[in-house]
Amino acid sequence: MALIVQKYGGTSVGTIEKIKNVAKRAARTHDEGHQVVVVVSAMSGETNRLLGLAAQLAEIPNERELDVVASTGEQVTIGLLAIALTEMGYKARSFTGFQIPIETDTAYVKARIKKIGHSAIMDTLKEGGIAVVAGFQGIDETGSITTLGRGGSDTSAVAVAAALKADVCEIYTDVDGVYTTDPNICEDARKLDKISFEEMLELASLGAKVLQIRSVEFGMKYGVRIHVRSSFNDNPGTIATREEEIMETAVVSGIAFSKNEAKITFVKVPDKPGIAAKIFKPLTDANIVVDVIVQNVSVTGFTDLTFTVARSDYKKAMQVADVTAKEIGAAEVVGDDKIAKVSIVGMAMRSHAGVAMKVFETLSAEGINILGITTSEIKISVLIEEKYTELAVRVLHTAFGLGG
Ligand code: ADP
Ligand code: ASP
Ligand code: MG
Repeated sequence: MALIVQKYGGTSVGTIEKIKNVAKRAARTHDEGHQVVVVVSAMSGETNRLLGLAAQLAEIPNERELDVVASTGEQVTIGLLAIALTEMGYKARSFTGFQIPIETDTAYVKARIKKIGHSAIMDTLKEGGIAVVAGFQGIDETGSITTLGRGGSDTSAVAVAAALKADVCEIYTDVDGVYTTDPNICEDARKLDKISFEEMLELASLGAKVLQIRSVEFGMKYGVRIHVRSSFNDNPGTIATREEEIMETAVVSGIAFSKNEAKITFVKVPDKPGIAAKIFKPLTDANIVVDVIVQNVSVTGFTDLTFTVARSDYKKAMQVADVTAKEIGAAEVVGDDKIAKVSIVGMAMRSHAGVAMKVFETLSAEGINILGITTSEIKISVLIEEKYTELAVRVLHTAFGLGG
């Protein structure tokens, strides 16, 4: 008998028929003699709809209240799934984040899980029941509802699996597993049987939304076996695991992209020590994560400094930047929120030269201009205009021979 955490994403619970399908899958696992905890997302499109309602009331809605609104999507699906299971003759009980409790910090909209209670879930399992847990949400020390960032149900599931010491955390979604790149934009993409946590961490952080980055961090830290697979068939999916377990590694194992990017440039900043700190401290204080930073060399005592933020933080970041620009005497702040980041990832890049060159040549052959570059040991990211994203992914996928 194993303890299995199954997470079903939005498309897997998008209709009543699909919720019935999820109930059947959870029931089947239970019938096989396993203890089952199901973590669910909101029905597909629901979180966007909820955030859209708030956006009609305020340009930058109060984030505590935004979480109150956004978290309701998952409350609906846990109730519906528990009803479906009960109707099939199973004992099932739904739990919201605060009923577990899933304790988080107070960073609304992108809260981090600190601690998970397990007695409520374990009591249900001991009684032979199926526990149905709301993904994406938690509660902070002040008793306020928090959410874990978009795609956060993956993190809820892996964190619950870690807390319960589950044998496996199955992430059920609308694709068969983790592919060399998003199979929805590149027909040629190939499914990976296994992927190292390190590579998955990079792919996730660079935009491969199949797993939320924090879920991979939890998996890595607590050694949770993560199996990404489809909720619509029984094909084996992709196992995310420790690097040692993977025999052969390709130089490049995957390509990720993110359209959730915006770039902001401080134009003609007096180039003095301490300027970068002055620019970035107010952004940090506003809880805005800065990603790629490009600073031009100054010849005349002035410099241009460009950085990227998540598109969802763009308006807030521009407001903060405008205030800073006046303080430091920058000529102006200009922004563009139609930017994408395309990244290639591979453990073996560490020991292979020429990967960056191949990226630059491949993009230049298509006339795609590179607006910024960052690299780490196992990845190269380039910023480009959003409209070239799909083209860039496809040509790079071919150039690195990733096709199936
Ligand atoms: P869920 O609603 O189940 O959480 P998501 O939409 O968050 O599903 O994640 C699944 C989607 O991730 C797929 O439909 C696919 O478009 C996208 N995706 C991006 N990169 C990859 C990749 N490398 N492998 C598989 N899917 C990917
Ligand atoms: N419903 C949330 C979202 O759309 C969480 C999730 O799906 O994982 O981001
Ligand atoms: Mg998701």
